[in-house]
Amino acid sequence: MIPSTLDAVVTEIADEMRARSDRGVVASYIPELGRIDPNQFAITVVTQDGQVASGGDCDVPFSIQSVSKVFTLTLALGLAGDRVWNRVGREPSGSPFNSIVQLEREKGIPRNPFINAGAIAVTDVILSGHQPREAIGEILRFMQFLADDDGIYIDHNVAASEDESGFNNRALANFMKGFGVLDNPVEYILGVYFHHCAIAMTCRQLATAGRFLANNGVRPETGYSVVTQERARRINAIMLTCGHYDGSGEFAYRVGLPAKSGVGGGILAIVPGRASVAVWSPGLDTTGNSHLGRIALEMLTTRLGWTIFGPG
Ligand code: GLN
Repeated sequence: MIPSTLDAVVTEIADEMRARSDRGVVASYIPELGRIDPNQFAITVVTQDGQVASGGDCDVPFSIQSVSKVFTLTLALGLAGDRVWNRVGREPSGSPFNSIVQLEREKGIPRNPFINAGAIAVTDVILSGHQPREAIGEILRFMQFLADDDGIYIDHNVAASEDESGFNNRALANFMKGFGVLDNPVEYILGVYFHHCAIAMTCRQLATAGRFLANNGVRPETGYSVVTQERARRINAIMLTCGHYDGSGEFAYRVGLPAKSGVGGGILAIVPGRASVAVWSPGLDTTGNSHLGRIALEMLTTRLGWTIFGPG
């Protein structure tokens, strides 16, 4: 792929997305997110050899929300290794991101680390042995390190807004605590969880932070190994099967890449061996995934032949 072709495709996609009137619906159950202008769109592709192609509002920070769950899973696996899998499964849930239905049948063990219940269990692993403030700092510094940008911050208004409206997440956490699946006090775990969901990043920063997953666990610019090759592959596998909740099958069918979405409208997609891609459009579809973000990624993988399911 010569960079000029990549630039042209990315520019074309950004132009097409800006012109569309179907934008999905901005998440309003977190009131602070409900205030976001839905007419924004951004895309950044960072290739393995360091080419960067961007379009739209790629330097506007947005709330990464559940995209943070890829990075908290990475941190928790680093801290506790495969013991993480005693607390959380690796199966797609087929249920909405905030669903509680499977928890009773499965004795408080969430289906996977990317639904809310699973991410709360992962946050509990990171919190153990730390004060909540330290755990939040660890997660933020990890994002800054991966993106090579100390300017990445937590939007405290979003964290407070989610705390005030977090009835559903409190129900999930208390239910799991009742089964003995969580070690730390529920309010501490949720405090850390709300704050990592409230990390604000631009598409450029997010695509940069995802590069180790496209490069066998290694940050290509420094040669620093973030995780082993095997672990990077496995995180990608979970992104493919669980990254879009009950929309994961449709996303794999249409886009064909491991990816993780968030209700802020961001998606991080990994093209193994090739590139890390971030898109952002705040309007969501009925499964809580970015409507135009998914369409943009479908265009990108179709036009460049970048799916993992066949030669590109
Ligand atoms: N912070 C959000 C919540 O817990 C994350 C959900 C998401 O991005 N899907 O509801």
